[in-house]
Amino acid sequence: MQTIASICTFCGVGCGLGLRVEDGRVVGVEPQPGHPVSAGQLCAKGWASGFAIDTGNRLRMPLIKEHGQFREASWDEALALVASEFRAALEAVGPDGVGVISCAHATNEDNYAAQKFARAVLGTANIDHCARICHSPSVAGLSRTLGSGAMTNSIADIDEAELILVIGADVTENHAMIGARMLRAQARGARLIVVDPRRTRLARLADQHVQLRVGSNIALLNGLLHIIFANGWEDRDFLACRCDNEAALRAHVRDLTPEITSAQTGVPVLALIELARAYSQARRAFIAYGMGITQFQSGTHNVIAVANLALVCGQLGRPGTGVNPLRGQNNVQGACDMGCLPDVYPGYQQVSDAAVREKFARAWGVAQPPAPGLTSLGMSEAALRGEFRALMVLGEELVVTDPDQHKLARALAALDFLVVVELTLSETARFADVVLPAASFAEKDGTFSNCERRMQLLHKAVEPPGQARADWQILAALAERMGYQGMRWANSEEVFAEMAALSPLFSAISHARLAQAGGLQWPCDEANPAGTAILHRHCFPRGRAQLIPVSQVEPDECPDADYPFCFTTQRLHFHYGGGAMTRKSPLLEREIPAGLLFIHPQDAARLGLGEAQGVRVASRRGQLETRAHLTDDVPPGTVSMPYHFREAPCNRLTSSAQDPISHMPELKACAVALTPLPPA
Ligand code: SF4
Repeated sequence: MQTIASICTFCGVGCGLGLRVEDGRVVGVEPQPGHPVSAGQLCAKGWASGFAIDTGNRLRMPLIKEHGQFREASWDEALALVASEFRAALEAVGPDGVGVISCAHATNEDNYAAQKFARAVLGTANIDHCARICHSPSVAGLSRTLGSGAMTNSIADIDEAELILVIGADVTENHAMIGARMLRAQARGARLIVVDPRRTRLARLADQHVQLRVGSNIALLNGLLHIIFANGWEDRDFLACRCDNEAALRAHVRDLTPEITSAQTGVPVLALIELARAYSQARRAFIAYGMGITQFQSGTHNVIAVANLALVCGQLGRPGTGVNPLRGQNNVQGACDMGCLPDVYPGYQQVSDAAVREKFARAWGVAQPPAPGLTSLGMSEAALRGEFRALMVLGEELVVTDPDQHKLARALAALDFLVVVELTLSETARFADVVLPAASFAEKDGTFSNCERRMQLLHKAVEPPGQARADWQILAALAERMGYQGMRWANSEEVFAEMAALSPLFSAISHARLAQAGGLQWPCDEANPAGTAILHRHCFPRGRAQLIPVSQVEPDECPDADYPFCFTTQRLHFHYGGGAMTRKSPLLEREIPAGLLFIHPQDAARLGLGEAQGVRVASRRGQLETRAHLTDDVPPGTVSMPYHFREAPCNRLTSSAQDPISHMPELKACAVALTPLPPA
């Protein structure tokens, strides 16, 4: 038996795995001893990650749909069809009418190839991935304030913090090893404060739980700034030396008294003052936030409000501090780093900068699209208008994870051509005209970037089933088929080398160096050859940080007489994403085998709804049936559902109201009505 070093694919923490291989099969998983992030430990999902690569129901051959049924095809036939359909769409509507949605589970090399295929082969700027529905506001908001859209500090900084402030993140469920680290820090004396409308497990264990009303983040954060300025608790030296626009921010929050903030957020005045004092007066305070901040139509402004708080208190650029978005998917950081976004090339080089476009045009030998392209939701909307004809989806389960599913299904049906690259015949793949079989993480070499900007190597442990291939190999073959010779890489190391040569942020990183160093955090360049554990130590990328006044925006849809409950979404520890991988594990499935609606016992009593009783949940966009779980995890008037279960797809209910800056849909808040079903 051999043990091959790899990285867990079930969240953005990036824990080190060993894949146990016997007779060409992965037969087990073990933690990587001494791993810089996980230090020889894994959570329940990590231990079960071997099931994700179970070859039982994997795609082994390309599939072509004929008369509504899939049939197996050769690579030659499938690639020829994909190439001719993209050519036809390009001739019919031009490059604005085609696009690629890349994959936050796939490697950096796969993602680099995806955006290059879009930009250099299809000639379109329409490239996006699921960061759109998780942390696109972090990229937009932190770039505007701090100059860089990623975690400012490292996971290990939790150990240095005197105070840990978790805002809108269910850490023990979604980033279990980070949650465990926070609890260890608390046991050593750090103060742990959780801001969340739900009583999460971490909130129950925290020193203070600030239970704000759903969608009142900016009101809370501005209210804290008012208290901090009013009491002189701000870091005057930091503000003077490192920040612009202090006067405007002070003026903006001047009238937001604790009483006003309390009325807007539902948080008692004394709790607001306690939080403001504790955060501003801590010597080292670490903020971690998640999708309770980003998944709102005010997502970018929510992120800006978080950054304002840290800047005013000087809680940046030092060990144990920082503003730290916890990324969900294992390589969502990497897919952003690789430029799978419509407005940036690899290394966050701006599409809007003519010099950058010229640089990539020269390197790739093809003129570049003149402006940023469509987001994934923008592509759906263009398809519904008949302006968008052909789409490639790599490993994303849009049908389960995107908002307003009926609308999305209409958009997919409106396409002339959909090709999906997948491990299995996913819900999204069922809509496709062609499905191409992909290799899983255990079947290819490459790199992932975890949420602390750490690029790490993973190694091929076994052969892919049948004729499955790595995404970058599929894209390279398709590029060649479409007459482009610039993607003829011999291996993933060559893909990475090309990317690093074009990306100053990663210029000192290579597969060889990663193998030696056990992971490197960007920026990693000539000036920082060992990488960068803490950003903004001495200055921000643009010199000074920007304080940006922002105002409270209510959710697009609030409860009313017809839809009287506030509906929010969440995730569960034992599942991941659309459930396609974790629900293959009998161990994980045994823990939570079906969807459920979390409802407060008072609300349930009013409706006559019992534990585990069936309930119909309806919004203005659709309805579903699930079972009730009575719990005070949610406050009265608010109900919550996880989105891992395709048989109870909560995104049938959610709203596609969008943040005007990042185009993040408002997945965390809409209004629903509940109808108990007769007990079984
Ligand atoms: Fe995998 Fe995340 Fe669990 Fe680590 S914390 S083992 S990366 S699911």
